[in-house]
Amino acid sequence: MPTVHTVAEHLEEEVAAPLIHALRPVLGSGGELGSRAGVPCDSWRLAVEAYNKRDWKTVPAECESYVGHYMLGEQYRRDSRVVVDEAIAYAQSLKLAGNGKDVWVFDIDETSLSNLPYYATHGFGYDVVTFMHAFLKSRPYNATSFNGYVLDGSAPALPETKRLFKKLVSLGIKPVFLTGRTEDQRAITVKNLRRQGYSGWEKLLLKPLGVKVAAVAYKSGERQKLQDAGYVIVGNIGDQWSDILGAPEGARTFKLPDPMYYIG
Ligand SMILES: [Mg+2]
Repeated sequence: MPTVHTVAEHLEEEVAAPLIHALRPVLGSGGELGSRAGVPCDSWRLAVEAYNKRDWKTVPAECESYVGHYMLGEQYRRDSRVVVDEAIAYAQSLKLAGNGKDVWVFDIDETSLSNLPYYATHGFGYDVVTFMHAFLKSRPYNATSFNGYVLDGSAPALPETKRLFKKLVSLGIKPVFLTGRTEDQRAITVKNLRRQGYSGWEKLLLKPLGVKVAAVAYKSGERQKLQDAGYVIVGNIGDQWSDILGAPEGARTFKLPDPMYYIG
């Protein structure tokens, strides 16, 4: 049996130097890598989640199937579980005021409710973005559109988010939904949330019809109103960076994975 010391020496001699050398041809061209369309899809996803890649319009065509496998396979659930485990540990560590004013902000789409059944049917590529834009602009109802899916009210809960939601309620932290969905979708959104086992939320904040403002500005403005009303935002969770950027963000933010679309 080699000692720890000799193993370390062995690694240093046999592995460290050649590894560094071997990485050079792969990473050497640095910033040009992306523009040459040679970015592996897992690197693309990491760049999206870390907010290094911004304002992207579509899932790269060559990554459509990768994103589909990620979303429908085990990894999406596993990644979400890690986020929620951290959120619960954080929530349990808080010393709450106990005056009923501690709230946690939840986004809805791809955070509390999953539209995966829709995307699994319609594809994970650029069609997703087209439909998402239609949804955000609240275009008239169309049976084949994403809006149609929302109005069906059948979106399943994200299991990990629901676990967080219920834990927070049990801890005395009140959930507040804050969504880019519009006010005319209130009834079906409430119905969908209840069907999926969400209950006991403090507020459901939907976007008034006709409001044309970027997501960061809209959502941070709504969080400011919560603070002005005396609420303390102890946590904030969403799948988009626009859910968690912009003061007041909340005492701590949590980003769920979403490689399907970008909302700026
Ligand atoms: Mg969302």
